[in-house]
Amino acid sequence: MSNKTNKKELFAKLPSVDEVLGDERIVEICENLPRSIVVESVRGSIDKFRKKIVSLKDEEVASFSLSEEDIILDSIITSKKSYELSLKNVINATGIVVHTNLGRSLLSEKIKDELWGAASRYSNLEYDIEEGKRGSRYTHLTDMIKRITGAEDVLVVNNNAAAVLLILSTMAKGGEAIVSRGELVEVGGAFRIPSIMALSGADLVEVGSTNKTHYSDYEDAITENTKVLMKVHTSNYRIVGFSESVSLEEMRSLGDLYAIPVVEDLGSGVLIDLSKYGMAYEPTVFDSIEKGVDIVSFSGDKMLGGPQAGIIVGKKKFIEKMKKNQLTRALRVDKMTIAALEATLRFYLDEEKAIKEIPTLRMLTYTKEEINKKVDNLYKVIMQKSGGNLDAEISIEDCKGQVGGGSMPTEELESKAVVIKPHNISVSKLEEKLRLGNSHIIARVYDEKYVLDVRTIFEEQYENIANELKTALSKN
Ligand SMILES: *Cc1c(COP(=O)(O)O)cnc(C)c1O
Repeated sequence: MSNKTNKKELFAKLPSVDEVLGDERIVEICENLPRSIVVESVRGSIDKFRKKIVSLKDEEVASFSLSEEDIILDSIITSKKSYELSLKNVINATGIVVHTNLGRSLLSEKIKDELWGAASRYSNLEYDIEEGKRGSRYTHLTDMIKRITGAEDVLVVNNNAAAVLLILSTMAKGGEAIVSRGELVEVGGAFRIPSIMALSGADLVEVGSTNKTHYSDYEDAITENTKVLMKVHTSNYRIVGFSESVSLEEMRSLGDLYAIPVVEDLGSGVLIDLSKYGMAYEPTVFDSIEKGVDIVSFSGDKMLGGPQAGIIVGKKKFIEKMKKNQLTRALRVDKMTIAALEATLRFYLDEEKAIKEIPTLRMLTYTKEEINKKVDNLYKVIMQKSGGNLDAEISIEDCKGQVGGGSMPTEELESKAVVIKPHNISVSKLEEKLRLGNSHIIARVYDEKYVLDVRTIFEEQYENIANELKTALSKN
């Protein structure tokens, strides 16, 4: 018999879509998933096997076994996969707390009722209950943020990039904004101050050099077209060594001298002095307002630890103008953001509570003892689950995490990790298996070792990690 005939026989053995759909397991799948998804998957699976037959080399044809069973199992897997949500939980074992790729800040469990309440029931989002008439969505956050930052007025938009755009569009459109060359930052995901400036319709006037900018550089650049003096907190890099920048106090006095407002993009938005909790000092929003900056903007989901948002605080007369800018409508925040931000900010009314309840702050301020306890527990759970039967060398080692999110780049977070050196597979293979596995563990490979930094891992995830490791590294 020629191979052609053999292939023909294989094709003839392929079941029809209806035949596969008739299998009781597929019928059961159809009860839980949309039928269209299952039909599409069955079609895809049959097609996959058809293509396999087409691509068989002559010598492979005879030994190729085709079973309906394989097609059914493949259809079940692809059906389930097609119905999975794309956005899913992962385990962050990188030790990077504000990890932009993994969702930046995490909200507290304690605010889930507030969040779900706003999401699933009607609210006074734009309704004044006292007066019985239309209200504004922007009033809900005003008092809280004023109290925490000491600012005169507040406006919250979708993110800090939007905040900077709105500030410049309102205050500097058609004029010039002066910024130091040392502060022309690019933030991950291509947020560039010069590009935002161009979008806003303001002309960027760069002054100074990358490492040094003096008071006189700003002063010499001032013209009748100067609309703002802008300071950008270089939160994602630091120019160290032979460097100099102009302080907020000096910017303020220059602004006063020429009657030009001073604005600051603070990036991270730290609301409490974290040096009290063992971290490096990072300027707070309160500091900037106290030093007389007219307008300050910062992110809601970096070190503040809330939902994605851009918070603008400062002088009422500028914020009033921003509220009237048509851009504000395009950048407006959703009720879920307002609910999450208000509930998160409420923790800040009691500093100790903020540190304890806001996950970002909690993870950043773990004590040495807490980290030690975490790593011991993770190690213990891994050993218990596997009965010590893993084909790898497992140990506890020191490691260094990061704040992340472009915040405090020079600050290293001393941490501990469970470190794994597999014997029979490569470290990169192990990394891949655990990333693609059910728990999607995202960890770092360093020095031919797989490193699970415990700082960003939750206690309830230990068992999943142990199970995944057992699957990936079992001796037999
Ligand atoms: C992160 C950051 C931004 C962008 O903030 P998003 O909230 O991500 O839009 C802008 N400026 C600075 C200095 C930043 O650090």
